[in-house]
Amino acid sequence: MSYSYEAPVSQALFDRASAVTPGGVNSPVRAFRAVGGTPRFMVSGDGPYLTDADGREYVDLVCSWGPMILGHSRPEVIEAVQAAVSRGTSFGTPGEGEVALAEEIVGRVAPVEQVRLVSSGTEATMSAIRLARGFTGRAKIVKFAGCYHGHVDALLAAAGSGVATFGLPDTPGVTGAQAGDTVVLPYNDLQAVRDAFAAHPGEIACVITEASPGNMGVVPPREGFNAGLKELCAANGALYISDEVMTGFRTSKAGWYGIDGVAPDLMTFGKVMGGGFPAAAFGGRADVMAHLAPAGPVYQAGTLSGNPVATAAGLAQLRLLDDAAYAKVDAVSAEIRGLVGDALGKEGVAHRVQTASNMFSVFFTSDEVRDYEDAKRQEAFRFTAFFHSMLADGVYLPPSAFESWFVSTAHDDRAIERVAAALPAAARAAAEVTGEGVRA
Ligand code: PLP
Repeated sequence: MSYSYEAPVSQALFDRASAVTPGGVNSPVRAFRAVGGTPRFMVSGDGPYLTDADGREYVDLVCSWGPMILGHSRPEVIEAVQAAVSRGTSFGTPGEGEVALAEEIVGRVAPVEQVRLVSSGTEATMSAIRLARGFTGRAKIVKFAGCYHGHVDALLAAAGSGVATFGLPDTPGVTGAQAGDTVVLPYNDLQAVRDAFAAHPGEIACVITEASPGNMGVVPPREGFNAGLKELCAANGALYISDEVMTGFRTSKAGWYGIDGVAPDLMTFGKVMGGGFPAAAFGGRADVMAHLAPAGPVYQAGTLSGNPVATAAGLAQLRLLDDAAYAKVDAVSAEIRGLVGDALGKEGVAHRVQTASNMFSVFFTSDEVRDYEDAKRQEAFRFTAFFHSMLADGVYLPPSAFESWFVSTAHDDRAIERVAAALPAAARAAAEVTGEGVRA
């Protein structure tokens, strides 16, 4: 199966890229390996649309994997960036912009009493884990299969399940020692967490979880799961870390915390708070954050942390995200979810649209997806056919069946109509495809 004919300029760029960059991309999922074909090289974004190097316009349902919640090139954000750039791009000193961004985060998310800015979600989770270990003096960490927390060595361990399973490194380059203190458990299974604490008394520094997972597709926590994690952590002297890199400032004004109200000890943020620039953060209880250098002994630093351009973009974006903006994103999400469900239903395609606030994804199975094992049972080959039909008709979806779709305040009626127009053929393609020739 080849899809490359559709995008000759992107193909030429991809060939050039592949000569100088491993796999031709700077982040693996961009390479279309899960769905096949040529990744589209984008040259501009405007509102809900992206335009590729071949001059084709797409309705963007990825939104840069979450950050672009106001759509692309929102004038107020661009103006804030231009104003910041005109004053200089990096000083290596403290600046008022980073204070204002920290105040905005602390003001929105009650459990965050203090926050440290970093440059990527990976840095945020890596630093939060180090801080939890430094604070508790314990080595082991618990994570859940199917939750992605960036490419932190210890957090790439996702293999194995069951109570006392020590994570095996999922990737060459992560040593057994780096992953050996990571206990990987099935998501949404509080009993497994209880058993892990029982098996490792006094050894577990923290439990880290996506506040509501979006990295195995959207698999929301069962009622009481996050509250149960918090309770178990508190009872066992471990910290509860909620990774809100994806959900933070997207699922509500205060992220997933604004929805479930379960106060974590530490939280991590990224994506939306950077306004499309590399800005991320971790924060939480003041007594825990006080252990961070220079206030405390746990070292953490960054040349570009709190970068003035990135903080200006993030601050401008957050200040535009009021109740009306979230209501709009929620409404767009509901409308598109409805259209997708109707189209697949009409063609008799087994599917489930799972939702966490305005995040959602489509699983090609009729069974509820509660964890990673469930997610892997879907007929992902149907997504491939669906994806390419949508792409051909000008709708850009995440190039994997295991990702959330993201929408923005900029998705207006015209954009939604274009999605609606593309769906019937894509649903038909999903219905007609067979499992043969499925790409690995
Ligand atoms: N945590 C979660 C929940 C994420 O979704 C991601 C990225 O997708 C990360 C952490 C890592 O963030 P970054 O890609 O900025 O390093």
